[in-house]
Amino acid sequence: MERNIDLNEISDGRLYGSNDMVKADCGSCEGCSACCRGMGSSVVLDPFDVYRLTTGLQTTFQSLLSRALELNAVDGIILPNLKMAEEEEVCPFLNEKGRCSIHPLRPGFCRLFPLGRLYEDGSFRYFLQVKECKKENRSKVKVRKWIDTPDIKQYEEFVCKWHYFLKDLSNAFGNGRDGKALSLAKTVSLYILNQFYITPYDSGEDFYSQFYRRFREGQEFAASILEKAK
Ligand code: SF4
Ligand code: SF4
Repeated sequence: MERNIDLNEISDGRLYGSNDMVKADCGSCEGCSACCRGMGSSVVLDPFDVYRLTTGLQTTFQSLLSRALELNAVDGIILPNLKMAEEEEVCPFLNEKGRCSIHPLRPGFCRLFPLGRLYEDGSFRYFLQVKECKKENRSKVKVRKWIDTPDIKQYEEFVCKWHYFLKDLSNAFGNGRDGKALSLAKTVSLYILNQFYITPYDSGEDFYSQFYRRFREGQEFAASILEKAK
Protein backbone atom coordinates (compact mmCIF):
# COMPACT_ATOMS: atom_id res chain seq x y z
CA MET A 1 0.00 0.00 0.00
CA GLU A 2 1.38 3.40 -0.92
CA ARG A 3 0.64 6.50 1.09
CA ASN A 4 1.43 10.08 0.27
CA ILE A 5 3.54 11.00 3.26
CA ASP A 6 5.86 13.77 4.30
CA LEU A 7 8.77 11.83 5.82
CA ASN A 8 9.94 14.88 7.73
CA GLU A 9 6.66 14.98 9.62
CA ILE A 10 6.39 11.34 10.62
CA SER A 11 9.98 10.13 10.83
CA ASP A 12 13.36 11.12 12.19
CA GLY A 13 14.27 12.14 8.63
CA ARG A 14 16.61 9.20 8.09
CA LEU A 15 16.43 6.19 5.82
CA TYR A 16 17.82 2.86 6.99
CA GLY A 17 19.11 -0.37 5.49
CA SER A 18 18.80 -3.77 7.14
CA ASN A 19 22.27 -3.52 8.70
CA ASP A 20 21.71 -0.09 10.25
CA MET A 21 20.92 0.54 13.89
CA VAL A 22 17.58 2.24 14.54
CA LYS A 23 15.76 3.39 17.68
CA ALA A 24 12.87 0.94 17.24
CA ASP A 25 13.33 -1.53 20.07
CA CYS A 26 10.45 -1.17 22.54
CA GLY A 27 11.71 -4.08 24.63
CA SER A 28 8.96 -6.56 25.30
CA CYS A 29 6.25 -3.88 25.01
CA GLU A 30 5.66 -4.22 28.78
CA GLY A 31 1.89 -4.47 28.88
CA CYS A 32 1.31 -2.18 25.92
CA SER A 33 -0.66 -3.58 23.01
CA ALA A 34 -1.58 -0.28 21.37
CA CYS A 35 -0.46 -1.29 17.89
CA CYS A 36 -2.55 -4.49 18.08
CA ARG A 37 -5.73 -2.43 18.40
CA GLY A 38 -7.56 0.05 16.24
CA MET A 39 -5.46 -0.58 13.16
CA GLY A 40 -8.49 -0.68 10.84
CA SER A 41 -7.65 -2.62 7.68
CA SER A 42 -4.02 -1.51 7.60
CA VAL A 43 -2.34 -4.81 8.55
CA VAL A 44 -2.33 -6.18 5.01
CA LEU A 45 -0.94 -9.69 4.56
CA ASP A 46 1.43 -10.76 1.84
CA PRO A 47 1.82 -14.36 0.59
CA PHE A 48 4.68 -15.03 3.02
CA ASP A 49 2.45 -14.02 5.94
CA VAL A 50 -0.21 -16.46 4.76
CA TYR A 51 2.38 -19.20 4.25
CA ARG A 52 3.63 -18.64 7.81
CA LEU A 53 0.14 -18.60 9.31
CA THR A 54 -1.38 -21.52 7.39
CA THR A 55 1.60 -23.84 7.78
CA GLY A 56 2.39 -22.74 11.36
CA LEU A 57 -1.21 -23.04 12.58
CA GLN A 58 -1.94 -26.01 10.31
CA THR A 59 -4.98 -24.33 8.85
CA THR A 60 -6.27 -22.99 5.56
CA PHE A 61 -6.62 -19.49 4.21
CA GLN A 62 -10.42 -19.92 4.14
CA SER A 63 -10.46 -20.91 7.79
CA LEU A 64 -8.40 -17.84 8.71
CA LEU A 65 -10.76 -15.73 6.62
CA SER A 66 -13.74 -16.99 8.59
CA ARG A 67 -12.30 -15.88 11.94
CA ALA A 68 -9.29 -13.59 11.75
CA LEU A 69 -8.96 -12.00 8.33
CA GLU A 70 -11.06 -9.92 5.97
CA LEU A 71 -10.72 -8.78 2.39
CA ASN A 72 -10.41 -5.16 1.35
CA ALA A 73 -9.37 -3.25 -1.75
CA VAL A 74 -5.87 -1.79 -1.56
CA ASP A 75 -5.28 0.60 -4.43
CA GLY A 76 -8.01 -1.22 -6.35
CA ILE A 77 -6.73 -4.77 -5.72
CA ILE A 78 -8.44 -7.01 -3.18
CA LEU A 79 -6.05 -8.30 -0.51
CA PRO A 80 -6.44 -9.88 2.95
CA ASN A 81 -5.80 -7.99 6.18
CA LEU A 82 -6.05 -8.76 9.89
CA LYS A 83 -9.64 -8.19 10.96
CA MET A 84 -9.78 -5.94 14.00
CA ALA A 85 -12.68 -7.35 16.01
CA GLU A 86 -15.51 -5.90 18.06
CA GLU A 87 -16.06 -2.32 19.14
CA GLU A 88 -12.56 -2.03 20.55
CA GLU A 89 -11.07 -3.12 17.23
CA VAL A 90 -8.75 -5.73 18.70
CA CYS A 91 -6.56 -8.03 16.65
CA PRO A 92 -8.03 -11.55 16.87
CA PHE A 93 -4.59 -12.91 17.78
CA LEU A 94 -4.18 -10.69 20.85
CA ASN A 95 -4.68 -12.84 23.96
CA GLU A 96 -6.31 -11.92 27.27
CA LYS A 97 -2.92 -10.97 28.70
CA GLY A 98 -2.49 -8.39 25.96
CA ARG A 99 0.20 -10.45 24.22
CA CYS A 100 0.43 -11.73 20.65
CA SER A 101 -0.67 -15.38 20.69
CA ILE A 102 1.08 -16.09 17.39
CA HIS A 103 4.30 -14.15 18.03
CA PRO A 104 6.63 -16.45 16.01
CA LEU A 105 4.13 -16.40 13.12
CA ARG A 106 3.12 -12.73 13.29
CA PRO A 107 2.78 -10.93 9.95
CA GLY A 108 5.55 -8.87 8.38
CA PHE A 109 3.71 -5.63 9.16
CA CYS A 110 3.81 -6.45 12.90
CA ARG A 111 7.50 -7.37 12.69
CA LEU A 112 8.24 -4.06 11.01
CA PHE A 113 6.34 -1.72 13.32
CA PRO A 114 7.25 1.08 14.16
CA LEU A 115 9.35 1.02 11.01
CA GLY A 116 7.88 1.66 7.58
CA ARG A 117 9.17 1.12 4.06
CA LEU A 118 9.81 3.80 1.48
CA TYR A 119 9.81 2.35 -2.04
CA GLU A 120 11.82 4.14 -4.70
CA ASP A 121 13.36 3.18 -8.04
CA GLY A 122 12.59 -0.53 -7.82
CA SER A 123 13.91 -0.87 -4.28
CA PHE A 124 13.10 0.30 -0.74
CA ARG A 125 14.62 1.64 2.45
CA TYR A 126 13.25 1.65 5.97
CA PHE A 127 12.17 4.69 7.97
CA LEU A 128 11.26 5.11 11.64
CA GLN A 129 7.73 6.32 12.37
CA VAL A 130 8.42 8.48 15.41
CA LYS A 131 4.81 9.08 16.48
CA GLU A 132 3.41 5.55 16.19
CA CYS A 133 4.90 3.44 19.00
CA LYS A 134 3.60 4.47 22.44
CA LYS A 135 6.80 3.52 24.24
CA GLU A 136 9.19 6.35 25.00
CA ASN A 137 12.94 5.79 25.22
CA ARG A 138 13.16 2.96 22.74
CA SER A 139 16.61 1.49 22.39
CA LYS A 140 18.69 0.96 19.30
CA VAL A 141 18.50 -2.31 17.42
CA LYS A 142 19.77 -3.52 14.07
CA VAL A 143 16.94 -3.34 11.53
CA ARG A 144 17.39 -6.98 10.46
CA LYS A 145 17.26 -8.15 14.07
CA TRP A 146 14.11 -6.15 14.67
CA ILE A 147 12.36 -7.67 11.63
CA ASP A 148 13.30 -11.12 12.93
CA THR A 149 12.95 -12.96 9.63
CA PRO A 150 15.46 -15.53 8.38
CA ASP A 151 17.52 -14.74 5.29
CA ILE A 152 16.77 -11.04 5.23
CA LYS A 153 18.21 -10.58 1.74
CA GLN A 154 15.86 -13.13 0.22
CA TYR A 155 13.00 -11.69 2.24
CA GLU A 156 13.68 -8.13 1.09
CA GLU A 157 13.91 -9.30 -2.51
CA PHE A 158 10.53 -10.98 -2.16
CA VAL A 159 9.01 -7.89 -0.50
CA CYS A 160 10.25 -5.75 -3.37
CA LYS A 161 9.07 -8.07 -6.12
CA TRP A 162 5.65 -8.42 -4.53
CA HIS A 163 5.28 -4.65 -4.04
CA TYR A 164 6.13 -3.73 -7.63
CA PHE A 165 4.05 -6.60 -9.05
CA LEU A 166 0.97 -5.25 -7.24
CA LYS A 167 1.88 -1.68 -8.06
CA ASP A 168 2.08 -2.35 -11.80
CA LEU A 169 -1.28 -4.12 -11.77
CA SER A 170 -2.82 -1.45 -9.61
CA ASN A 171 -1.54 1.33 -11.87
CA ALA A 172 -3.05 -0.46 -14.84
CA PHE A 173 -6.43 -1.37 -13.33
CA GLY A 174 -6.79 -0.15 -9.78
CA ASN A 175 -8.26 3.24 -10.61
CA GLY A 176 -10.34 2.14 -13.59
CA ARG A 177 -13.93 3.30 -13.54
CA ASP A 178 -15.32 2.12 -16.87
CA GLY A 179 -16.90 -1.31 -17.31
CA LYS A 180 -13.91 -2.93 -19.00
CA ALA A 181 -11.40 -1.66 -16.42
CA LEU A 182 -13.63 -2.70 -13.52
CA SER A 183 -14.07 -6.17 -14.97
CA LEU A 184 -10.31 -6.56 -15.52
CA ALA A 185 -9.62 -5.32 -11.98
CA LYS A 186 -12.00 -7.99 -10.67
CA THR A 187 -10.28 -10.67 -12.76
CA VAL A 188 -6.89 -9.53 -11.42
CA SER A 189 -8.06 -9.58 -7.81
CA LEU A 190 -9.58 -13.06 -8.12
CA TYR A 191 -6.42 -14.35 -9.76
CA ILE A 192 -4.16 -12.90 -7.07
CA LEU A 193 -6.31 -14.27 -4.26
CA ASN A 194 -6.38 -17.74 -5.77
CA GLN A 195 -2.80 -17.90 -6.97
CA PHE A 196 -1.04 -16.42 -3.93
CA TYR A 197 -3.37 -16.86 -0.96
CA ILE A 198 -6.09 -19.50 -1.34
CA THR A 199 -4.11 -22.26 -3.06
CA PRO A 200 -2.49 -24.04 -0.12
CA TYR A 201 1.25 -23.84 0.49
CA ASP A 202 3.18 -27.01 1.20
CA SER A 203 4.69 -26.88 4.69
CA GLY A 204 7.36 -29.37 3.55
CA GLU A 205 8.80 -26.98 0.97
CA ASP A 206 10.32 -23.58 1.61
CA PHE A 207 8.19 -20.54 0.89
CA TYR A 208 10.36 -18.87 -1.71
CA SER A 209 10.48 -21.85 -4.12
CA GLN A 210 6.70 -22.05 -4.02
CA PHE A 211 6.25 -18.30 -4.30
CA TYR A 212 8.54 -17.86 -7.29
CA ARG A 213 6.82 -20.70 -9.19
CA ARG A 214 3.53 -18.95 -8.66
CA PHE A 215 5.09 -15.57 -9.35
CA ARG A 216 6.39 -16.61 -12.78
CA GLU A 217 2.88 -17.71 -13.72
CA GLY A 218 1.58 -14.48 -12.21
CA GLN A 219 3.88 -12.42 -14.42
CA GLU A 220 2.59 -14.27 -17.49
CA PHE A 221 -0.95 -13.66 -16.34
CA ALA A 222 -0.19 -9.97 -15.78
CA ALA A 223 1.34 -9.62 -19.24
CA SER A 224 -1.69 -11.25 -20.90
CA ILE A 225 -4.16 -9.12 -19.00
CA LEU A 226 -2.22 -5.94 -19.69
CA GLU A 227 -2.42 -6.88 -23.37
CA LYS A 228 -6.20 -7.29 -23.10
CA ALA A 229 -6.48 -3.87 -21.48
CA LYS A 230 -5.00 -2.08 -24.52
S1 SF4 B 1 2.90 0.63 20.45
FE1 SF4 B 1 5.10 0.11 20.71
S2 SF4 B 1 5.26 -0.57 22.87
FE2 SF4 B 1 3.07 -0.63 22.32
S3 SF4 B 1 2.72 -2.74 21.62
FE3 SF4 B 1 3.20 -1.52 19.80
S4 SF4 B 1 5.40 -1.75 19.48
FE4 SF4 B 1 4.96 -2.40 21.61
S1 SF4 C 1 -0.71 -10.49 14.88
FE1 SF4 C 1 0.12 -10.28 16.94
S2 SF4 C 1 1.54 -8.51 16.80
FE2 SF4 C 1 0.21 -8.47 14.98
S3 SF4 C 1 -1.49 -7.08 15.52
FE3 SF4 C 1 -2.11 -9.19 16.02
S4 SF4 C 1 -1.61 -9.50 18.16
FE4 SF4 C 1 -0.47 -7.71 17.45
